[in-house]
Amino acid sequence: MASSTLTFLGAAGTVTGSKYLLTLPSGARVLIDCGMFQGLKRLRQLNWEPFPVPPESIDAVLLTHAHADHCAYLPALVKQGFDGPIWCTQGTRRLTEIVLRDAAFLQERDAEDARSGGYSKHDPPRPLYTVADAERAITLLRTVQFDDDVALLGGELTARYVRAGHILGSASIHVTTPDTQIVFSGDVGRPVHPVLQPPVIPPGAPTVLIESTYGDREHPEPADLPHEAMADAIRRTIARSGSVLIPAFAVDRTEAVLKELAKMIRDRRIPRVPIYVNSPMALRALDAYSDHAEDLREDIHFDDITEMRNLVLVESSEDSKKLTSSPLEGAIVITSSGMMSGGRVVHHLAQMLPATRNCVIVTGFQALGTRGRALLDGVEELKMFGEMVPVRAEIIRDEEFSVHADASEIIGWLRALEPQPRTVYCVHGEPDSSTALAARITAELGVNAVVPELGHEVRLS
Ligand SMILES: [Zn+2]
Repeated sequence: MASSTLTFLGAAGTVTGSKYLLTLPSGARVLIDCGMFQGLKRLRQLNWEPFPVPPESIDAVLLTHAHADHCAYLPALVKQGFDGPIWCTQGTRRLTEIVLRDAAFLQERDAEDARSGGYSKHDPPRPLYTVADAERAITLLRTVQFDDDVALLGGELTARYVRAGHILGSASIHVTTPDTQIVFSGDVGRPVHPVLQPPVIPPGAPTVLIESTYGDREHPEPADLPHEAMADAIRRTIARSGSVLIPAFAVDRTEAVLKELAKMIRDRRIPRVPIYVNSPMALRALDAYSDHAEDLREDIHFDDITEMRNLVLVESSEDSKKLTSSPLEGAIVITSSGMMSGGRVVHHLAQMLPATRNCVIVTGFQALGTRGRALLDGVEELKMFGEMVPVRAEIIRDEEFSVHADASEIIGWLRALEPQPRTVYCVHGEPDSSTALAARITAELGVNAVVPELGHEVRLS
């Protein structure tokens, strides 16, 4: 008899492009996550290749969460013929709508800029997909409740989504097929998230896919004064009449950064300077968080944060252009994209990087090949809009914002699974990180752990 198989179509040996194709004994196909490859050019080029199986042959997509590296390939899949349901939680649906519209808008605009600026000799200046493709993908989103056993494909498959505590709506998914069970961890949050409820351990299964973003690292122990590196950088930057740029993932990171800044001002650790949130996507995500109080920690009240009197929400592109047209003094700007690969952050970088009085605070994981990674690696100049911009501003990193479990937290998550897995696949990590985690899993849990290669297919029973 045929058995279920799993094919690793992304996030294998890299952090982006999450896509796992589950084929059932009947031949039915389900795709778990549908992420975009990001970062290095050789990875980004994978987005342009034809999908490995005919997209119309996929019966459904299950989404763990709304980060672009997990959902932003959906419009491309739809453009190539997929028209089945896309199952996700309510929070994920809300954020996925925002992420897909933004991704499509950026695709169209960057293609247009490259065409008119003439600085895209190598990449064809056309969008991977359009806003219309994104809107079609959005019509296919269907919601599930956390902790319910949901029968899909006429009962051939059951899925249970449990809270992953990573971003709003994020889930780990336990899947039961006619012949086996599999757990897809999605991205797993830390035991304490700045605003969300903590992760829940799903039921165990013989096969587990575990993320390994920080598979070779431990986050710093919580300090007495949280985010002091950031507070100190803000104080000295404002004292020298500079401004602080905080690139932040529009979804989740902006919420966490604002919450910390509000608290720092209340505790008089930083001066009450203007705080600009210059990201329409972040503003919409902020609304989504405010509307899903059931997913938030009980002590979080977004109204307290969004009603701070020094907060300036920058919506229109005219206001954004005004903000980046001349040097800013004594202000904080939160903007996206978080890895500085596109969006309004690039205009702020071009304006702020050449001056030593300014400071950029990096708050999130920076994939290889992104501007953010280059800044952390200490480059002296950075290419923007086809020109080299000198990097003279101070660059610091605040690692306390991580919403990914570290290696020990992942081991703890795996150890809590009941029953224990027979095989763990370490996905969603750069090779060193995934390999280090696999070695720890084998050594500490006595479980077979594998780092799959892109395109690898395994039998599950
Ligand atoms: Zn994520």
